[in-house]
Amino acid sequence: MAFPTLTGSVEEPPSAIESELRALMAMAAHDLKSPLAAATANLEMLREDHAGQMDGDAARCLQAAERALRRVNGLAEDLMAFATADQRPVRLKPLSFAEEVADRVTDLDAEVSVKGPLPTVLADSSMLRHVLDNLIGNAVKYTPKDAVAQIEISARPCSTGMIRVEIADRGIGIPEADRPRVFDAFHRCANSGAYQGTGLGLAICRRIIERHGGRIGVDQNPGGGSRFWFTLPGSGPVVVASS
Ligand code: ADP
Repeated sequence: MAFPTLTGSVEEPPSAIESELRALMAMAAHDLKSPLAAATANLEMLREDHAGQMDGDAARCLQAAERALRRVNGLAEDLMAFATADQRPVRLKPLSFAEEVADRVTDLDAEVSVKGPLPTVLADSSMLRHVLDNLIGNAVKYTPKDAVAQIEISARPCSTGMIRVEIADRGIGIPEADRPRVFDAFHRCANSGAYQGTGLGLAICRRIIERHGGRIGVDQNPGGGSRFWFTLPGSGPVVVASS
């Protein structure tokens, strides 16, 4: 059975200014690639060949440079993903949500609990991976270590034929004033200054989910913390309009 490929967005297409901004971001991310790769390769060589002979100060400098480089690499990847989120076609296929979640949880090395059974969704697998990496990664990042095991992932079919996925954590939560803007590019909440981030991950997630014809949101977890949710088509007979 053939599943549709969505090449456009089911939402409003981006405005001319937004398209230009995305093109600029893509260009910046692209131009950063070569110098970043060179710096990464040089630092790796330094670590492999000389880390053993370094004194404490030099070793600390090397570590700090590696940390800074990881941050810039992360920013360049996020910029590129955001800038190109509208361009790649959405290749829908039925995916076992349980398997997708299990893979992400293993890769992220996160001990979170999954409330089963999880249904099958119709989604682009690399895009779904991106969304799960971001949302589960955030749940872990913004939750104190001793509460990570209380993160819960669940999914259930809605009457519309869509599947609603929820990722609930007991972390620092999203202040009410930030909630309307939390999916905007570069928005970081007032309480997250101690955590590193670019403020791009949720904007990318929103774009991906919208392109699947779904919705994404966040509310307060009744147990404290945040509860992110999104909807995706189920793998039953669901019609997703292409643009
Ligand atoms: P970042 O790279 O800053 O984590 P995101 O776009 O993924 O960027 O998230 C935007 C902001 O939303 C974060 O800076 C943080 O303030 C807040 N946030 C996201 N997820 C969570 C969460 N699970 N708990 C608390 N705050 C969160």
